[in-house]
Amino acid sequence: MNARDRRLAELKSRIREVAPREAAELQRKGALLVDVREPDEVAQGSPAGAERLVRGFLELKIEDVEPNQERPVLVMCAGGARSLFAAEGLVQLGYRDVCSVVGGFNRWKQDGLPVEVPRSLSKDERERYGRHLLMPEVGEKGQIRLVDSKVLLIGAGGLGSPAAFYLAAAGVGTLGIVDDDVVDRSNLQRQILHADDRVGTPKTESARRTLQALNPGVRVVEHRVRLKSDNVEEILRGFDVVIDGSDNFPTRYLVNDACVKLGLPNVHGSIFRFEGQVSVFWPRYAKRRGPCYRCLYPQPPPPEFAPSCAEAGVLGVLPGVVGTIQAIEAIKILLSIGDPLVGRLLHHDALVQRFSEFVVKADPACRFCAEGTVFPGYVDYEQFCAAPRAAEGSVA
Ligand SMILES: [Zn+2]
Repeated sequence: MNARDRRLAELKSRIREVAPREAAELQRKGALLVDVREPDEVAQGSPAGAERLVRGFLELKIEDVEPNQERPVLVMCAGGARSLFAAEGLVQLGYRDVCSVVGGFNRWKQDGLPVEVPRSLSKDERERYGRHLLMPEVGEKGQIRLVDSKVLLIGAGGLGSPAAFYLAAAGVGTLGIVDDDVVDRSNLQRQILHADDRVGTPKTESARRTLQALNPGVRVVEHRVRLKSDNVEEILRGFDVVIDGSDNFPTRYLVNDACVKLGLPNVHGSIFRFEGQVSVFWPRYAKRRGPCYRCLYPQPPPPEFAPSCAEAGVLGVLPGVVGTIQAIEAIKILLSIGDPLVGRLLHHDALVQRFSEFVVKADPACRFCAEGTVFPGYVDYEQFCAAPRAAEGSVA
């Protein structure tokens, strides 16, 4: 018996081995199945629902995947030898219930157990998103999630520009953009997706050209329409997150109402002169009950109380701050990391350079989002610009 065989025999005497069928059963009951094979092996197929942690990084990364050392762990390689060494490594780290799958993935396949071909990033994607891959909060898994995600931007204006720009850079795979406007020279003071030679071009088209120049991997879905009660649901459906950068009340209320009905997070931003605010309206957020936009403002103000669009000014840089915060919130929601601005409203006063946070509560009597309410239907409000009060105004 050579040294390797002696070592394997010794490991077999201490590490419990389970057959693939039993491993599948244990996995169904909650055990963690870890495939420790190399990426090129895994790319051909891997047990369904397995975690893929290459042998060389197993001890370094297992705690990010499963910090609970009491959870049973099943380690698998191709034939059942590498997994014995890997299992030994986990035992030494303190994992209490570690098994090696005898016969490995080869026997798993022969036994007809469920296999999936895992998504992986291409070489180009790996290069592009390298700085994300280094962060455990994102990593390859998170980046794949971003690539598979769909974010809808309401408006390709002041807020939509920085938000879409950064989301495209971050690799959010599908960006829907709703805007029925064309680029005007007066937009260029703040709407950084557009360019002087595109004055007169539809904003969705101009946005698509800029975003795809930055990241050709991003799919841009153009909705060159104005949101109305009869198209809002159809347009929003299928997206994971909505970023509302609209500049008018009818749209804002339609977006809110459709997000409430569809259970979508609504990352809301608005700007006025030197002030901006951001919040996430998401009554169905799993961790705490948040309000919808109507919990704060049940109805739009009467038009005579709002300044006209032409009167409302805004510092050109300000939407860059607010829209960028909206992009960050969207990414946090997509990755399920951190604490989103649900039930919190962040206000930014650029003149004194101060951020303030306000608690915003769900209205238990809200006609749209209160529990047990029947959706009352969409409302097409009369079109006008601006705001119930100064900080709430907007010139997207
Ligand atoms: Zn509400």
